Amino acid sequence: MKQATKFIHAGTEPDPSTGAIMTPIFQTSTYVQSAPEVHKGYDYSRAGNPTRTALESACAEIENGKYGLAFSSGVAAADAVIKLLKPGDEVIASNDMYGGTYRLFSKVFDKFGIKFHYVNMSDADNISAAINDKTRLIWVETPTNPLMNIIDIAAVTAIAKNQNILVCVDNTFASPYLQNPLDLGADIAMHSSTKYLGGHSDVIQGCLVMNDKQLQEDLFFIQKSCGAVPGPQDCFLVLRGIKTLHVRMQRHCENGEKVAHFLRNHPKVAKVYWPGFNDHPNHEVAKRQMHGFGSMISFELKDESPETLKKVVSSTKIIALAESLGGVESLINHPATMTHASIPREERLKNGLKDSLIRLSIGIEDADDLMADLDQAIG
Ligand SMILES: *Cc1c(COP(=O)(O)O)cnc(C)c1O
Repeated sequence: MKQATKFIHAGTEPDPSTGAIMTPIFQTSTYVQSAPEVHKGYDYSRAGNPTRTALESACAEIENGKYGLAFSSGVAAADAVIKLLKPGDEVIASNDMYGGTYRLFSKVFDKFGIKFHYVNMSDADNISAAINDKTRLIWVETPTNPLMNIIDIAAVTAIAKNQNILVCVDNTFASPYLQNPLDLGADIAMHSSTKYLGGHSDVIQGCLVMNDKQLQEDLFFIQKSCGAVPGPQDCFLVLRGIKTLHVRMQRHCENGEKVAHFLRNHPKVAKVYWPGFNDHPNHEVAKRQMHGFGSMISFELKDESPETLKKVVSSTKIIALAESLGGVESLINHPATMTHASIPREERLKNGLKDSLIRLSIGIEDADDLMADLDQAIG
């Protein structure tokens, strides 16, 4: 089945009791049993809910995986993955990644005795150097946030192979339309469904997709035991979002390409970070593992003064100043004070994230309007 057909039909069957073409929102906490242990597959909504089941199947299908699990947020999905580990285990993670994941690792799990090594994975050899006999997980995020580096997923999974090391890829930035980590050998694909899957900035949610039955059972056990499950209405919203993912992503990619080139040609812009440029350091890897380059773009102005930065990010009229990404509307963000403020400044600078960096999530509005808006804001 081709992708467009799959995205529209994934996980959904007409409701058997009514014929409703859209999956009903099963707003219920419990399910009546005819006798102890005799029920219709559901006993309590933390363990399972039919709206969530439909969404979990959809997530699995669109990521080319066997099993999906939905969580109440993207970080709750990441939290579940780390809970597969025990004290003494070690994790190798990207040094450039979502600030909230870094905070979860360094401020919550570090004190439980799990050790995290942050390495620059643009060169996969750096990973081999950090592996030891306690390494249990490699955490990849690509494209990286906010510097838009590209990590070669197949190269990472080749390193982990036969070493009893799991590879989890945070695929939020690419979405399943542009990249499918399981096809490249990863064990788990993770999403903040809040972003492109939902697509309309109206829900917080996360998901994990995997092929291995034992891994699914272990993660389902954590989902049920720790309880970070999404409600049925939120599951419905993400199911609806997935139906238009391919159409939105096509426009995101077209707009992203136009805006990236516009910024690069702008006399006041010093540098633009976007994996679609031929001279992006890992452009060839991006071309190989992605089906397009997306619409996440970061840039720096020639004038690096904090005043100019503040003026530019505060004066766009269509593009809203806000955290998050992946919605139909364009957003502008200042990582150092917003999305990445939870990473210490020295750590950010060491990884190349300057205070003057601006990140854009280009939406699906008319590209000319977006470029005119940026032009007047940059001035
Ligand atoms: C937003 C985001 C997360 C966290 O997801 P939430 O839904 O906000 O909890 C994780 N990874 C990436 C790349 C993100 O953009």
